[in-house]
Amino acid sequence: MINQARKILKSVFGYDDFISLQAQIIENILAQRDTLVIMPTGGGKSLCYQIPALIFPGLTIVVSPLIALMKDQQEQLIQAGVNTVVLNSALSSSEYNANIQKIKNNSARLLYLAPETLLKPNIMALLASARIDCLAIDEAHCISAWGHDFRPEYRQLVKARASFSKAVCIALTATATPRVREDIKTSLGFKGANEFVAGFDRKNLFIEVEPKENPFEQTTRFLANFSDDAGIIYCLTRRQVDDLALALKEEGFSVCPYHAGLSESERSRNQDMFIKDDVRIIVATVAFGMGIDKSNVRFIIHYDLPMNIERYYQEIGRAGRDGVKSACLLLFSYSDIHTLKYFINQKKPEEKKIAEIHLKAMLNFVHTDKCRRIPLLNYFGEKTTRTECGMCDNCLAEAENQQDISLAAKKFLSCVKRTGERFGAVHIIDVLLGSKAKKVLNFRHNRLSTYGIGTEYSKKQWQQLSRQFLNKGLTEHDMEFGGLKLTPKAWEVFKDKEKVFGRLIKASEAKEPTYKLRKKTTYDFDRHLFEILRQKRKEIADNDSVPPYVIFSDKTLIEMAYFFPQTRDTLLNINGVGIVKAEKYEKIFLGLIIEYCKKNQIKERAGHLKPKAAGRTESGAKKRHIIVGEAYNAGKSIDLIKKNFNIKQSTVLSHLYKYLQDGYSINTKPLLSLSKLPDDEQARVLDSFQSLGPELLRPVYDAMDGAVSYDELHLLRLYYTGMK
Ligand code: ADP
Ligand code: ZN
Repeated sequence: MINQARKILKSVFGYDDFISLQAQIIENILAQRDTLVIMPTGGGKSLCYQIPALIFPGLTIVVSPLIALMKDQQEQLIQAGVNTVVLNSALSSSEYNANIQKIKNNSARLLYLAPETLLKPNIMALLASARIDCLAIDEAHCISAWGHDFRPEYRQLVKARASFSKAVCIALTATATPRVREDIKTSLGFKGANEFVAGFDRKNLFIEVEPKENPFEQTTRFLANFSDDAGIIYCLTRRQVDDLALALKEEGFSVCPYHAGLSESERSRNQDMFIKDDVRIIVATVAFGMGIDKSNVRFIIHYDLPMNIERYYQEIGRAGRDGVKSACLLLFSYSDIHTLKYFINQKKPEEKKIAEIHLKAMLNFVHTDKCRRIPLLNYFGEKTTRTECGMCDNCLAEAENQQDISLAAKKFLSCVKRTGERFGAVHIIDVLLGSKAKKVLNFRHNRLSTYGIGTEYSKKQWQQLSRQFLNKGLTEHDMEFGGLKLTPKAWEVFKDKEKVFGRLIKASEAKEPTYKLRKKTTYDFDRHLFEILRQKRKEIADNDSVPPYVIFSDKTLIEMAYFFPQTRDTLLNINGVGIVKAEKYEKIFLGLIIEYCKKNQIKERAGHLKPKAAGRTESGAKKRHIIVGEAYNAGKSIDLIKKNFNIKQSTVLSHLYKYLQDGYSINTKPLLSLSKLPDDEQARVLDSFQSLGPELLRPVYDAMDGAVSYDELHLLRLYYTGMK
């Protein structure tokens, strides 16, 4: 039967292989064994019951907590040619009756409804007369009071289970700690150990934490990496949401607010615009995101510290569901902890305890100087000690040059000691720099031996150093008062038993977000074609009143703009193109691709490349272009790199271009001096890149009437791309 499942995977959904544990899970369901599935958001849970639903002769009931989510799933299935119905209060009576009819005559394969609808006596009676083969319970953590989203209706589901005793049951969730897992199984009366826990690592998410200094500026700087892409910014309070949304709008961003204080209609309008790609950014409180399946969310910003890892993980999980690389930035400040503590203190004593434990785990994640995936995955019970994911700020910082900062550490730590271990970093730094700030003078800290002993570094440098001392566990925050205290490890440093290695930024350097996402996809796809396809997708979606990603995901369009398929067969090779969709859209999409390829003399690309781990070869070694990029960024001139690696200048340039395309940035300043063109010619070439795009050199070459050599074009393209 698994062969049949595999055929459906390709013909209906357009995918070549099962991912994660899908195959085992489907096999288990087909063998009628109750199954609990724990998989991260975007892990591919839906197919685990959708494919069996197409194999079972009877109906599959899917219980889902939110109407929006049902609608979304239904639309996606209908697009793929699967007869799917929903029952909820939002339907008109004729729609409702038509759906009931489809259930009665067994033409519907799947039925989506909320638990309270399912448990209504008339619905139960209707379903009792139908053949039910599978009961799927989505967001199953809602069953547990230990989860973060308990819904009492879910507790009643055991009744439904009893009345459809022949149906196999599958419960699915993304966020479940071991405690919640047990709860789900017990509540639903699962026997045996049919539990499938997929890896929680969402490898395509770049994770970054930055101290919150000037959050608005940090946000806009981060947003500059995403020109047309969608993302969500989470804030803790409604007021913050309104303020930030307004401020971003004034800066010209396409943005809408979302929180429980808005009217129902306003909320659903804003959410709808986001889903339909009509607005690019949503600023929201935690209320936003559950129940939307939008697969092309490219970034998540946490403007405030989330309350716990579970929530944080769920929120970042809304990015990159289509598997394309996406970025997550968390801005963190100590005052956020106070706000959260205030919230926590309002809770009942038992809940308060749980909330405090959760917050502590969150802080561990924020403070770690190791790979961010270690605390994250450990939280979900996944043991990992891997130290280099290459997709978090700490892993990238590791790769940078580390130097001995023991002396700075000793100065800083002794200043912490002499001021009585009561003050925060700002004050300590003031003392080290010999500031005449009122607070310094009031406490007579200008008389300390550590006053003014740190003037060799700027304030920025000290701030960055002090963060490292905290991250390295030399200091810790007094949870009560927020001041810095020394740890036993600090004394090892004093006694010269331990050296401190870290990073020293330049005096004026502000921390740039580590992640430059521009073009950071595994495929070097054709941006122009992608845009053309994207526009067409939007047109079709608006016509059909469905979200664009329901037609094709971004990933599917990216593959089209990489492989340039020109026949039905090659189109079917693209991820996410099943038979029904191919039939429906091949004329339009193939037409656009063929026309584009003709105009630009592009041939169909053979083969079906699988994305590789960024920056690494199969054996795990760093790729050449990464090494060259790092050498260049470490200050080596292009001339020196040529000599060191024994390669031509053009090879260095193409390595650097590739490095940029992997999402890294380079210093572009030295590049222009290598150009032999006069300034006005350079400007014309750069203008052409601006209007024609940098992907293909040929159009620019033609625009220059062939008067500029390809070597020059390579150089200026690198400059142009690196500037943006
Ligand atoms: P979840 O419900 O776990 O959050 P989904 O079922 O929505 O995840 O799947 C996430 C994304 O992965 C969707 O865009 C889906 O089309 C895609 N996907 C699922 N299974 C596969 C597969 N076998 N191959 C390729 N893509 C898949
Ligand atoms: Zn990492």
